Amino acid sequence: MMAADKAEQAVNVEQWQAINERDGHFDGQFYYADRNTQLYCKPSCPTQIPKFNHVCIFSSVEAAEAHGYSPCRKCRPNGKAVTDLEWAGQAERFIHSHYPNPLSVNRIAEACHGPSSELQQIFIRIYGVSLLDYLDRVRMDQARYLLIHSRLFIKQIAELVGMPAAADFSRKFKEKEGVAPTEYRKRARKLDTDQHS
Ligand SMILES: [Zn+2]
Repeated sequence: MMAADKAEQAVNVEQWQAINERDGHFDGQFYYADRNTQLYCKPSCPTQIPKFNHVCIFSSVEAAEAHGYSPCRKCRPNGKAVTDLEWAGQAERFIHSHYPNPLSVNRIAEACHGPSSELQQIFIRIYGVSLLDYLDRVRMDQARYLLIHSRLFIKQIAELVGMPAAADFSRKFKEKEGVAPTEYRKRARKLDTDQHS
């Protein structure tokens, strides 16, 4: 196997057209991956077509997977069904890489190439929390980290964790942590000072 066969390639005009026409004649000739969703598909996949600048091409399933892409549940590019566990994992990965953006259940399901009610159900079964509760958890983990390790204002932290309305962020933080963000930071600093004095 030549090294080039394993490489990530830029999409050419013919491939881009095949993807847009969902042309099944090209199935097996190449696979396309979406850097945004981290999934890869067959050219004929009926799901939403990624943005042009997010697309890259692989000549084999192995190459796409070697680059960290997961198979799309809808078009099953590697010929195997995506298990519930794998699918929930795709949603988890999407949440971790996109929590700074506005996200909804529909948006997450769209990125995971499947129906939102089904994804929600499976996610809850596997992770024990809903997609949005999980998203909150990831955002609050990051917020706690930034409160302790940065000097950023609360408003800036709220934006960085995907909750641009600072009041909503503070309310949510208090709901989850039992204290307001400023108080949390104050206590963490005091603890730190006490330990070092
Ligand atoms: Zn697909």
